[in-house]
Amino acid sequence: MAEPSFTIGATDVAPGARQVVTLPVTTGLNGAALNLTVHVVHGARPGPTLALLSTLHGGEWFSILPLRRLVQEEDPAGLAGTLLVVPVANPPALGRLLRNAPDRTDSPDMNRVFPGPLAATNDQLAAVVTKEILARSSCLIDLHQGPWGAAFRDILIPDDAEPIAADHAERLALAFGSPIIRRAPVVKGFPGPRSSIGYAGGVLGIPAMGVEVGGAGFGAALEEGWIQATIDGIRAVMAELGMVRGPMPERPTRQLVYRKSHRVNPRVGGLLRSRFGGERLGEAIAAGTLLGEVLSPYTNEVIEELRAPADGLLFYTARDYPVEPGGWAFGIADTQEGARWVEA
Ligand SMILES: [Zn+2]
Repeated sequence: MAEPSFTIGATDVAPGARQVVTLPVTTGLNGAALNLTVHVVHGARPGPTLALLSTLHGGEWFSILPLRRLVQEEDPAGLAGTLLVVPVANPPALGRLLRNAPDRTDSPDMNRVFPGPLAATNDQLAAVVTKEILARSSCLIDLHQGPWGAAFRDILIPDDAEPIAADHAERLALAFGSPIIRRAPVVKGFPGPRSSIGYAGGVLGIPAMGVEVGGAGFGAALEEGWIQATIDGIRAVMAELGMVRGPMPERPTRQLVYRKSHRVNPRVGGLLRSRFGGERLGEAIAAGTLLGEVLSPYTNEVIEELRAPADGLLFYTARDYPVEPGGWAFGIADTQEGARWVEA
């Protein structure tokens, strides 16, 4: 059976073709048209539709890099199904290099407004993503890499989504090859039913993952490894969904599926001195370990020590950089409370 064209917005994408599609969203106060740009890779054969979102938070632009390469390298002739790739879901936030939209509405955070019921810019962006991307997808990967200076190694899947979708998401997250996977109540808890994965898993009932691999500001060698790990992981998910065939990268021999995370972020602002660089991500940490210190940029004194509150794996870390109270420093994936290991 020949695959039909894929219609998105006013555009028909032929089977076996790759196309950049512009979806109109609204007009800004600056008079400029705001559009969403979608890369459609439409396979020659029928199959699932995988949605890949990036930069819902404007400061987390590192995920644009792996998606750029993935779209360039993926051959639609060998693909079963369709990739819908949105490298920049929140152009106004990226335009200011800020996490949130630079406006004064009730919807500052685009990852808390799905499916976009209001008229704010973020709602309208989320509404276009919901209608044109999520509503026709069989799976969602939403990439949230670290903002500059912080690096992550984690996948978040909703435990309280539609149950079949939750189990499916766990299988896909394991296939991705992430050494650390958090399965937690995303819909009832954090980041909630109006986040992209909370909405996709809880309302649309599709497997949904928030993927965090790496971040910017750690040097070319580490960053290239994270970019490649993201591409390899997405390809492994595509293979698991039956979209591509071929040799897959090896999975870690042990993968942690955990429930409880600890944010070890500073309570004061200052210069973070990190004792765990990006190369230490995924490392086992004992409770009480000194992860870093906050120094006063004014007096040079140590004004806070940051220590691991529990035994676990380091799932995010930061380089030496200035931090505000609550800024990203260190994250511990609890290996005790509600955690289990999946052996290869
Ligand atoms: Zn984010």
